[in-house]
Amino acid sequence: MRAVTVTPGVADSLELVEDQPEPAPEEGAVLVEALAVGICGTDHEIISGQYGEAPPGERRLVIGHESLGRVLEDPTGTLQPGDLVAGIVRHPDPVPCPNCAVGEWDMCRNGRYTEHGIKALPGFARERWRIQPRFAVPLDRSLGQVGMLLEPTSIVAKAWDHIERIGHRAEWQPQTVLVTGAGPIGLLAALLASQRGLAVHVLDLATSGPKPDLVRALGATYHSVPVDQLDFEPDVVVECTGAPSVVLDVMYKAAPNGIVCLAGVSSGGRSIELDAGALNRALVLENNVVFGSVNANRRHWDIAAEALRRADQLWLGSLISRRVPVSGYADAYASGPDDIKVVLEFAV
Ligand SMILES: [Zn+2]
Repeated sequence: MRAVTVTPGVADSLELVEDQPEPAPEEGAVLVEALAVGICGTDHEIISGQYGEAPPGERRLVIGHESLGRVLEDPTGTLQPGDLVAGIVRHPDPVPCPNCAVGEWDMCRNGRYTEHGIKALPGFARERWRIQPRFAVPLDRSLGQVGMLLEPTSIVAKAWDHIERIGHRAEWQPQTVLVTGAGPIGLLAALLASQRGLAVHVLDLATSGPKPDLVRALGATYHSVPVDQLDFEPDVVVECTGAPSVVLDVMYKAAPNGIVCLAGVSSGGRSIELDAGALNRALVLENNVVFGSVNANRRHWDIAAEALRRADQLWLGSLISRRVPVSGYADAYASGPDDIKVVLEFAV
C-alpha cells in the first residue's frame, strides 16, 4: 500500500512508497482506512531532518500524526465498521513513569514515550493503519471533512484544561483572553475560548489573507499591533507564536492573577535583552502564573472531539487551505504563503 515516508535525520528524504507492508496486528486490533492527514510544522521539521525516529529495526519512518480514518474492523467491539476515528499520537513510556502509569502520557517524566509519525511508531500517512481501542478516538459523523483537526484541537483542549485548573487556585472569573498567533493552534485556542463565553482577542502580524476574517467569524477581535500597544490586560493568554519578544511581552501584559500558557515552541539560539528583576516583580506582585503546555492525553482528546462537534463545521472547514490527493504529496508538504492547514487526502 502507499505511505508517505522519510529517512529520519536525512533532509528532504520525503518519499511516497508504494510497497509499504500492511499494518502489523501487533499495532492494534482496530483496522482503519485512512481518509486524510493534516500537515503541520512538526512534519516540516521532520522532513528537514531536524528530528524523527524510525521504528526499531527500520530505516524509514511513515510520517503523519494528525489523522482521520474510517474503521474497517474492530474485533473488540469498541468501535463499529464505518465509525470515524483519529489515532492518539503519543503512547506511554515502557517503564512507566508515574504519569504514564495513570494515562497522563502528555506529562511523561522520562521522555521515553513514543509517537506515531514522529518517534519510533509508524505514522498515519499510509492507506491503512491499526491502533489499540484505547488510542482510537471516535468522532461525530458530521466531522468527516474536518476530523483531522482533532489532533491540534487536543493540544489546545489540554492547554485550556490546565488553565482552568490553575485558575481555580482562587476565586476566578476570567473575562478576557488574548491568543497570540493565528495559525491553526491559535485559531483553535480562540475557538475553545469563544465556546467558554470569554471575550477573545487574537493577535497576529498578518494584515491580509484569511486570518482576520477567521478570527472575526468567531466573534473575536483581531489585532496586528505589538502586544504592548493593546489597550487591555488579558486574564488569560495563550501564547502560540514562540516568538521570544511576544513571549516576554505577554508575561508583562497579563492582568493581576493572570495566567499565561506558553503553547508555542521557540527555536532558541537568539538572545534578547531582559530585565529579569522587573519581570519577577511583575509576576510575583500580581500572582501571575506562566506555564508551558504540550501534547494531550485521552481525556483531552475526548474533550476536543466534543468541542469540534459543537463548532461551526463551515468555520472548521475554512481552516483547511488546501486539500491535496496523496499522489500530489510533494505539493502538500511544500508550504504556501496563505496556508493555515494543508490536508493530504487518501480515500475520499
Ligand atoms: Zn512517562
